Amino acid sequence: RVAYVNGTYRPHGQATVHVEDRGFQFADGVYEVWSIFDGRMADFDGHMTRLARSLTELRISIPMTRQALTQVLKETIRRNRVRNGIVYLQVTRGTARRDHPFPAEGTPPSVIVTARSIDPNKSEAVAAKGVAVITQPDIRWGRCDIKTVGLLPNVLAKQAARERGAYECWMVDEMGLVTEGSSTNAWIVDENGKLRTRDTQANILKGITRTALMALIADQDVELDERPFSVDEAKRAREAFFTAAGAFVMPAVSIDGVRIGDGKPGPITTKLRTLYLDQARDEAV
Ligand code: PMP
Repeated sequence: RVAYVNGTYRPHGQATVHVEDRGFQFADGVYEVWSIFDGRMADFDGHMTRLARSLTELRISIPMTRQALTQVLKETIRRNRVRNGIVYLQVTRGTARRDHPFPAEGTPPSVIVTARSIDPNKSEAVAAKGVAVITQPDIRWGRCDIKTVGLLPNVLAKQAARERGAYECWMVDEMGLVTEGSSTNAWIVDENGKLRTRDTQANILKGITRTALMALIADQDVELDERPFSVDEAKRAREAFFTAAGAFVMPAVSIDGVRIGDGKPGPITTKLRTLYLDQARDEAV
């Protein structure tokens, strides 16, 4: 395997950044993840546009054109011979002596890209059964709309899920409403048969998979209500699922040990997964 690090492709085991990288010391950076289908990236523009927004919000100016960046993503996928999997891009504010304020003007940001294969048969087997979800209080900061590498609360939430035999942790605000998953957006088909997912005016990440799925739902015979739902509503829901690059549309069949529906992936969830996968594959670049 190889990784791209600041202008060069290096063997994965030797692909390093400096100890004074601000990503390492302050989580002062952003990232994106694309799913790869048959060697091509899904939802390409959506992730690129969000990357630009995250960088602008943090006032990091990337020293590469979008075209050059695209080339690096494709080349990293190619050199790693990834047919199905993910490609990861991270940009930090660069390397400088540790000090909280931004480093001197002209300090180049660090840009790294890695790619790895994921066996599509394994992910399909997981999706076919559905997965367990737990819930925990959302303890994150006020700018969860920016895709920063500051993911410690998300890491702790995901670990709590794994320790309880679950796949994902849905985070919950003070009102008892689900914000989002530790690395996914949360959805239900509520008791009235409406699709529900939290609006992104609230403090959550505007998922690219979420946006792509919404466009597909517009053509379907199901109502979408972009409104937060409580943990109690989720436990009473007909169906539950979550979305993200890599997970696509993943059915949740239990929440905090409470079975959802009949404990199997629901029909709407299954339909949406197929619709999303078909479109993502078709439009990958
Ligand atoms: N919420 C959080 C907190 C995430 O980390 C992610 C995945 N990066 C998502 C939602 C889903 O976003 P996307 O569909 O763009 O992968």
